[in-house]
Amino acid sequence: MAQRIFVTGGAGFIGSHTVLALLRARYDVHVFDNFHNSSPRALRRVTELTGAPIGTTEGDVRSMRDLSAAVDAFRPDAAIHFAGLKAVGESEAEPLEYYTTNVQGTVNLLRAMDKQGSRRMVFSSSATVYGTPSYLPFDEAHPINPSNTYGRTKAMAETVIRDWCHANGDAGAMLLRYFNPVGADESGRIGEDPTGRPDNLMPFIAQVAVGRRQKLSVFGDDYDTRDGTGERDYIHVSDLARAHVAAVERVLERPGCDSCNVGTGQGVTVMEMIRAFERASNRRVPYKVVDRRAGDLGSYYASTERARDVLGWSPEMDLHEMCASTWNWQQQNPNGYRDG
Ligand code: NAD
Ligand code: UDP
Repeated sequence: MAQRIFVTGGAGFIGSHTVLALLRARYDVHVFDNFHNSSPRALRRVTELTGAPIGTTEGDVRSMRDLSAAVDAFRPDAAIHFAGLKAVGESEAEPLEYYTTNVQGTVNLLRAMDKQGSRRMVFSSSATVYGTPSYLPFDEAHPINPSNTYGRTKAMAETVIRDWCHANGDAGAMLLRYFNPVGADESGRIGEDPTGRPDNLMPFIAQVAVGRRQKLSVFGDDYDTRDGTGERDYIHVSDLARAHVAAVERVLERPGCDSCNVGTGQGVTVMEMIRAFERASNRRVPYKVVDRRAGDLGSYYASTERARDVLGWSPEMDLHEMCASTWNWQQQNPNGYRDG
């Protein structure tokens, strides 16, 4: 019998790629999503790619009743908890929405899993929990000191999960701290589809290259980096999806709570990303240097040793593949899932 994985937020960017990887690894998957920031079309396309059915519940993690009913019906062996809100700026303006969805939503999921007697889970955390670097690369022992509301909701949810594990000897959790997920499945059928103006660099560049936006604003060129522009550790979403499959295997095998960074360990600056995208797409990406974005850090990247040692996982896809797959998705779907 295939093991059953309950995936909150499974229709989203990272969730849909992970559902694809789980189905290919022969897990039975049930997605729980309110489609606040995603489309059921993503799941239909994953089914087209795999031929495997995906059970789906349209529900809200803020509702204990929705969650409990879906968990009770599916009886999962483990959960992956992607559902959440992720925009840093919005989290400063709407903190209560962020605490309710990201922290209370996590408590609700743990309660629903407890009730069902299934205490294994993988959690979508973020490199944002580290805050300003005391040293680089960030390793998992780096102090947790997030500098914005979104990061604090993730750090709090991590604490909730860790305490839940300590209280229940049979509970197992893996906290995955993602760096900057980008790229798309090689088919070009699923990808990142931000609503409105993208906050993040890669979808913005892709929309400029495809002609949906005129030019990119480069937020500052006076950081202490190779070319003065901000440096981040970008990770291909298909590599990230594989990390979730490895994490699910790990939590199914043993109890206890652990955390792993998921990045490549390589920093890439904004200018380097623009150039790499131009090469991959054969298009120009017009840009203009503007002031720094409030709250931005100059540079950070991951130590990847722990993910290799604990999960047996390493990234396989390089910067060119990140740009080429984003371009393939953007060209095939200039308006994301809105085209059908
Ligand atoms: P996404 O917005 O594409 O996916 C989140 C999914 O959760 C969406 O399908 C959305 O509809 C769903 N959702 C939101 N609120 C919900 C609610 N109340 N009830 C049920 N479903 C709800 O985002 P993503 O980029 O795929 O991110 C997935 C997770 O990874 C999030 O928790 C995010 O904070 C975390 N993360 C993302 C990044 C990134 O840069 N993309 C980096 C670090 C961590
Ligand atoms: N960035 C930029 N222009 C944009 C969006 C982002 O110059 O329109 C820069 C940003 O300052 C940072 C990097 O690109 O140095 C990555 O930003 P993103 O918002 O994608 O990720 P995060 O800041 O959350 O790591």
